[in-house]
Amino acid sequence: MERTLIGDVKAKIGETVKVQGWLQKLRDQKSMQFLILRDRTGLVQAAFWKKGDLELAEKISTLGTESALTVTGKVVENASVKLGGLEIQLETITVENNAEAPLPFEPFSSEALPALDFRQDWRYMDLRRTQNLLLFQAQTTLEMAMREYWTQNGFIEIHSPKIMGSPSESGAELFELTYFDRKAYLAQSPQFYKQMAMAAGFERVFEVGPVFRADPSFTSRHMTEFTGLDMEMSWIDSHEDVMSFLENWLAYAFQRVKDEHGEQIQEQFGKEMAVPSVPFPRVTMDEALNILAEVGYELPAEKKGDLDPGGERAVARYVKEKYDHDFVFLIDWPISVRPFYHMRHPDNPELTRSFDLIAGGLEITTGAQREHRYDVLRSQALEAGLSLEMTQYYLDFFRYGCPPHGGFGMGLSRLLMVMLGIENIRETVFLFRGPNRLNP
Ligand code: ATP
Repeated sequence: MERTLIGDVKAKIGETVKVQGWLQKLRDQKSMQFLILRDRTGLVQAAFWKKGDLELAEKISTLGTESALTVTGKVVENASVKLGGLEIQLETITVENNAEAPLPFEPFSSEALPALDFRQDWRYMDLRRTQNLLLFQAQTTLEMAMREYWTQNGFIEIHSPKIMGSPSESGAELFELTYFDRKAYLAQSPQFYKQMAMAAGFERVFEVGPVFRADPSFTSRHMTEFTGLDMEMSWIDSHEDVMSFLENWLAYAFQRVKDEHGEQIQEQFGKEMAVPSVPFPRVTMDEALNILAEVGYELPAEKKGDLDPGGERAVARYVKEKYDHDFVFLIDWPISVRPFYHMRHPDNPELTRSFDLIAGGLEITTGAQREHRYDVLRSQALEAGLSLEMTQYYLDFFRYGCPPHGGFGMGLSRLLMVMLGIENIRETVFLFRGPNRLNP
């Protein structure tokens, strides 16, 4: 018999079906047994009248919660069943994998969940929770919609190498590894390779791939490995073209998630899925510093020209009040806090044509127009103290006809935090990697 997904059982009233899933709950009563079964499409009740087969009833009594089962039976309407007004009259049951008791923790208990660290030890159990299933379904829709928008707009997908012979950008945050008889590094960004694609004449590229950062921080928004959403586009006039693309792309993808999962998101996360209106407000870094002064937020001294997370939140609050918007582009950052390859303003060489996107008070993106003129780029690299030996291969991309271009990098998990109102990045990723976490 073919498997029927639990979500489709209601269309099979009067028929005998085979369902496969996990035993979410067993109510073992005097004469009846009720099994709540779960698969990725929902829940259904199977009922068994003990007297029908005492041996089978005995077997059911010993089943551990969360066992993986195959059940057959006839689907009947029963108005007294809360789960959809129907149930399966259980005929056979195959225990595919019995769950030991007790479970490390009950994913469907009404009591408070155990601490995150413990749940991470048992991540597969934690992932069984409806909220988590939904999160990854929504993530799938989000990525699909992003790819759709990119490809509809002429973008080509690339997969750049994650093992590199020399560090991209600065040497900080780099994981080093032994590569046969020499050193190699894990890519901390696809930046240089995206730009190579511009030199290659691809004009518009995107990449969704792993990014590695040897960052020993224990914040709720950092991981040592994360999925980066990266794009780069040619023939732009300034960073404004990149921001304009980004906001439309993001609004499109959010709308798709809302259409597909909005109701469930409301139910599971208690949050209305909000699609941001376009354009997002733009605030220059100069204005941002004035806003902070106005609201009395003091930046730590070492953050000169930069913002700390508290500063980002304070500016976001101001923007929310003034423009009623959850997203804001902070633009025109000083050169001191930006990488050497960001293009500088022709009329103010102290400022870069760059932006960060702050969403719900959290930095989720950095982008810029890149410097594509070889001589200017080379002198900016030298000024930043980079060794030409290490960066010459990159500088060579700009020697034989490279168009003006720009792009951005966004952390997928940070975006999910914002989209679903989740406080800790560790809850938004399939498996978290941090300084103290390499398993499972
Ligand atoms: P932060 O200042 O928060 O450490 P960053 O300035 O180092 O971030 P970028 O190098 O600009 O970040 O990376 C682009 C985007 O990648 C960030 O806006 C963020 O969404 C994501 N990102 C960066 N570092 C991490 C990390 N360690 N864990 C998860 N996402 C990250």
